[in-house]
Amino acid sequence: MALVVQKFGGTSVGNVERIRNVAKRALAAQARGDQIVLVVSAMSGETNRLLKLTREISARPDEREQDVVIATGEQVTVGLVALAIQDLGGKSRSFLGHQVRITTDSSFSKARIRSIDGEQVFAALARGEIAVVAGFQGIDAEGSVTTLGRGGSDTTAVAVAAALKATSCEIYTDVDGVYTADPNICKAARKLDRISYEEMLELASLGAKVLQIRSVEFAMKYAVPLWVKSSFTDDPGTLVCAEDAAMEDVVVSGIAHDLNEARVAVRQVPDRPGVARRVFGALAAANVVVDMIVQNVSESGHTDLTFTVGRGDLARAREVIQSLVAEIGNPRVEADAGIAKVSIVGVGMRNHAGVAAKMFDVLAEEGINILMISTSEIRVSCVVLEKYAELAVRALHTAFGLDAKGAV
Ligand code: ASP
Ligand code: MG
Repeated sequence: MALVVQKFGGTSVGNVERIRNVAKRALAAQARGDQIVLVVSAMSGETNRLLKLTREISARPDEREQDVVIATGEQVTVGLVALAIQDLGGKSRSFLGHQVRITTDSSFSKARIRSIDGEQVFAALARGEIAVVAGFQGIDAEGSVTTLGRGGSDTTAVAVAAALKATSCEIYTDVDGVYTADPNICKAARKLDRISYEEMLELASLGAKVLQIRSVEFAMKYAVPLWVKSSFTDDPGTLVCAEDAAMEDVVVSGIAHDLNEARVAVRQVPDRPGVARRVFGALAAANVVVDMIVQNVSESGHTDLTFTVGRGDLARAREVIQSLVAEIGNPRVEADAGIAKVSIVGVGMRNHAGVAAKMFDVLAEEGINILMISTSEIRVSCVVLEKYAELAVRALHTAFGLDAKGAV
């Protein structure tokens, strides 16, 4: 008998009819002979609504109390889903984070899971029940309610699957799988049957927002086979799993783009020890997350330092640099939000030559200027002007042979 953890996100439990649909699907899976554990998110829009309430009360809400409030969205849905299953004649029981002892650290609003006690869930399964576990929430050593960060129910689901040694974890969402590119901008994008954990991590962190990144890291660490499926169709979806030899034949598996970054150039800083430490130390102290960093070969004792940050952090990054200019030789500071990062990802890159060169060739053919470049073992990213992002994604998608057959 297989033990399957199925996670349903906010849109999948967005209203009463959809909650009934989740209950039906879970009962159908149980009827096929599997033991089913459900993990559910809050109804779509609910977490945002709760967050807004806390901010209406307080400009800077205390994070412990904020977690108490926003964790309630999932309490509502676990109860409703269990009721829906019972209403259809099935057996079900709901569990909040503390009831299955999803213990976390005390970093409110971004807590990390430490352990899960499967005992109560196993007992429910043994009674023939469908266990419905609240996503997103846990409890710290003091007994305070914690939450795992936005999209955290994915991580709950994978962690529960790992703790229960489940056969697989299925993430049901409003798309039917992982695509070779964002179908909203690339009509020729195809759904992938399989993708490796590592590729998924690169695609997720690059802005293909299907799964919370930490859930993929967890799945990789504990070797949990992870399915991305649609809650509205019977499509088999995409399997995220360990890499195998066949995957290496494909040089590029997907094209990601990220419109959420901005670029800061610090021009003509003195090329001497301690400058990078000063700049990036100050940014870190201000809690600005830096992504790409490029430093040029110096000319007459000066160099350019260019980096990208999330768009939401651009103003802060600029202030931090401005506050340092006197100390670092009065460089010129330029900030630009109108950029995009376009990336090609594939484990096959490890043993194929000329992949980056081909990417640069495709962009040049389209007349797209590259502003910055960074690479990892299985990824090449280029920063381009935002207005060229869609064109770049489509051209790369075609050039690397990813277009769906018959696509125009
Ligand atoms: N309800 C939480 C959120 O909206 C967690 C989740 O949906 O995964 O971020
Ligand atoms: Mg989600």
